[in-house]
Amino acid sequence: MARTPDRKAGLLADVRALAEQHLAPHAGAIDTEARYPAAALRALGAAGAFAAALPASQGGQDLDLAAQAAVIDAISAVCGCSGFLAWSQAAAAATVAFGDNPALQQALLPELADGRLGAGSGLSNALRHLAGLESLRLGARHSGEGYLISGVLPWISNIAPGHVFISAAALEDGGLLLFLARGNANGLALEPCPPLAGLNGSLTHTCRLAEVYVPAADVVAGPETSTALLLRLRGWLALSQTGLGLGIVDGCLHDIREAGHTQAELNRHLPEQEDTLAAALHSARERTRRLAAQFDDPAAYADVLRLRARSAELALRAATAALLHAGSRGYQLRHPAQRRLREAGFFAIVTPALKQLHKELAQLERGSRRAA
Ligand SMILES: Cc1cc2nc3c(=O)[nH]c(=O)nc-3n(C[C@H](O)[C@H](O)[C@H](O)COP(=O)(O)OP(=O)(O)OC[C@H]3O[C@@H](n4cnc5c(N)ncnc54)[C@H](O)[C@@H]3O)c2cc1C
Repeated sequence: MARTPDRKAGLLADVRALAEQHLAPHAGAIDTEARYPAAALRALGAAGAFAAALPASQGGQDLDLAAQAAVIDAISAVCGCSGFLAWSQAAAAATVAFGDNPALQQALLPELADGRLGAGSGLSNALRHLAGLESLRLGARHSGEGYLISGVLPWISNIAPGHVFISAAALEDGGLLLFLARGNANGLALEPCPPLAGLNGSLTHTCRLAEVYVPAADVVAGPETSTALLLRLRGWLALSQTGLGLGIVDGCLHDIREAGHTQAELNRHLPEQEDTLAAALHSARERTRRLAAQFDDPAAYADVLRLRARSAELALRAATAALLHAGSRGYQLRHPAQRRLREAGFFAIVTPALKQLHKELAQLERGSRRAA
């Protein structure tokens, strides 16, 4: 798709138009009826929505992380489930791009970038492990030119037999392996998770791996580089995901304005108003844009966590406000305010979850007090 001179603005305009056309009419069904937005994701992928920050040589838009976060924000303002699917796809592509397997990058990045190959990011466990919260759930042992991987990951979204996912496993002889697994691999069972409160169209599965063979060609990073890669990537993942929360806030502002058409007189007595939420949204977006340039600077990591936590709290606040402004109409199950409450709840519990963020921040603050 041709870009205007301001390529970022052009990409965002395309994404907004596609989201309005393909997602707005179906957001409720995607959330509650498990309708996977396949056609919308294909169109968004073709427009460059999953690869804003990748170089053109890898099938990307040659923009930056701020643009990727803004794209996820624009999608999530219309449908949080689709925003999370876009994030999952972009995160998987970014992980391969950050890796040290040029042949894999050449073979798969163009297809990951434009969404022809659906992809999930199963890195919660590895990231929580890195934060000292849990042990690795997958183990890897050498087998011929590759590895056999076993274990269970309770949640991976955007995964199906024709898709791939990225995850990490503990190697038998020490160290961490970052790998790409095929959704139809022998030994991989994809169990649909029980009905969810929301995001039912997210193709979320429990993944059971029983000696799944991952050839060397599908290794994203070996034990020498994988931890450094994750340490660089975690800021990228958290900041791009901030777009999900800020898009949900934007959607709540839309619902508050809608309610104002008929209930403005009474609604002005509510403690939370559109202008304060809009100001907080603007400031969080600005902060995302500025921090994006420092996503892999260890000195900025605490600020990234603070921003990610602030956006989760803002999304919860905005979703509650949207319900209160919508009143009894907003209590109907199919009202968007109900969906946004579920979306905001999801954003607060997905890795890095609010409780993880506050724990990590407390640890970092204790560390810097000790160093002072
Ligand atoms: C709808 C949905 C989609 C998700 N998609 C992804 C994804 O695409 N990729 C990804 O990496 N993570 C995904 N997750 C996981 C998410 O990112 C968090 O890691 C997870 O919710 C744990 O968050 P928590 O900090 O609240 O820990 P808690 O929920 O408090 O969990 C504590 C421990 O219990 C484990 N646990 C939680 N649920 C189960 C379960 N059903 N079976 C066994 N153990 C369990 C957790 O892994 C953790 O070790 C998804 C979660 C949900 C609800």
